[in-house]
Amino acid sequence: MIEHKDIVISGGGIAGLVAAAAFGDAGFDVLCVDPTHPVTNRDAAGADLRTTAYLQPGQAFLQAIGVWPLVTDCNAPLQVMRIVDAASPDLVSKDFDATDISDAPFGWNVGNWDMRDGLLSRIASLPNVVFEPGLSTTSTNTRSTEARITLSDGRLMSCKLLIAADGRDSAIRKAAGIAAKRSEFGQLALSFAVTHAMAHDNISTEVHKGGGPFTLVPLPDFECKPSSAVVWMDKILDIQAMQALSVDEFNAEITARSAGVLGPLSLITARTAWPIISQLASSFYSERTAFIAEAAHVVPPIGAQGLNLSLGDIKALLELAKASPSSIGELPMLKKYHQARRPIAQSRVIGVGALNRASKAEGPAATRVRALGLDVIHRIAPLRRALMHLGLGTR
Ligand SMILES: Cc1cc2nc3c(=O)[nH]c(=O)nc-3n(C[C@H](O)[C@H](O)[C@H](O)COP(=O)(O)OP(=O)(O)OC[C@H]3O[C@@H](n4cnc5c(N)ncnc54)[C@H](O)[C@@H]3O)c2cc1C
Repeated sequence: MIEHKDIVISGGGIAGLVAAAAFGDAGFDVLCVDPTHPVTNRDAAGADLRTTAYLQPGQAFLQAIGVWPLVTDCNAPLQVMRIVDAASPDLVSKDFDATDISDAPFGWNVGNWDMRDGLLSRIASLPNVVFEPGLSTTSTNTRSTEARITLSDGRLMSCKLLIAADGRDSAIRKAAGIAAKRSEFGQLALSFAVTHAMAHDNISTEVHKGGGPFTLVPLPDFECKPSSAVVWMDKILDIQAMQALSVDEFNAEITARSAGVLGPLSLITARTAWPIISQLASSFYSERTAFIAEAAHVVPPIGAQGLNLSLGDIKALLELAKASPSSIGELPMLKKYHQARRPIAQSRVIGVGALNRASKAEGPAATRVRALGLDVIHRIAPLRRALMHLGLGTR
């Protein structure tokens, strides 16, 4: 027997769960499957220790679909982006303040475990959305009128629109024969959280010294102490060496690497490493199928672009679906989605890749160019504001 849904979502990472909540909120019948069970506690085995800075447009979208009210207790606003070049002899530091362009902060930082918790609550409140962890999509077969999907428990589904949110190695994208261009950077990102003596004052600080940025992103206090999430990008072997250090040795290393901007840092979570790549699919659709989030594009974790870009994908697809609910998954809708989103993703893949190369570069010449570039961007107000808008995705 074939079960029918309006929409099947393959992948219940944060992007897949947001898509399930968004399309469910709009009244579509949705099934979302993922072989893994979402972990909603930071200290539990398998927790995704990353945090996500939801920039203004992404936060507004999560508000509109009823998810943001469920994470208001566990976010920290990002009012200022501070960029520090610690490789320069006299520590260059420049602040980019959200008040320069807006009344609101740039964004709000939420732990991925807390966001998963909020998303599961929102989905549980939508009777037309079913999320089944422990199940994967094993094969897909499309025709002009529908997509047919086999699940790992043998069930056969049909739907008007298949949303592939199955990550950077998307099996659905590969089965559809859609190529993806990948660049490797020879880096890992180490993700963990710390407490520190000094208050972060809602300032997100990116410390550059060659090898990749070391970014401290504000979190709510932990056990009455100021706390931040850290993403430390560096060469693969260097990050692996850091993972092997004792906690005391590691605390000394991260305090030095942060140039002491928040005083001594103390690790409060495990350390998880993520490979850094850029990737862009040649098409964001195939018959009856839309590719979203990392199934379509991957950028290095600089400037909080990755998942925010994915929220833009979901919003664009949802707007097209709401404009003509009876034609979801039809070719004209999918083409419009591709035309709206791929150029934006392409520009982010190129731009963030270039920022990463600039941050990775080592040696006196690279340091001079980086410091000069930072100074020019900061000093010329229209350029500074334009870049802030560009980073936020508000222009
Ligand atoms: C260190 C780090 C920090 C980051 N910080 C930020 C930030 O501050 N802001 C920001 O915007 N972005 C950030 N990002 C990017 C962001 O974390 C990613 O974009 C996001 O987590 C990817 O989500 P996703 O749902 O696309 O993919 P994934 O999380 O990879 O989810 C894909 C899901 O698909 C499932 N799946 C795979 N195969 C199947 C199948 N056959 N059937 C069903 N399900 C399947 C998998 O189990 C998985 O759960 C960061 C990334 C890193 C590495």
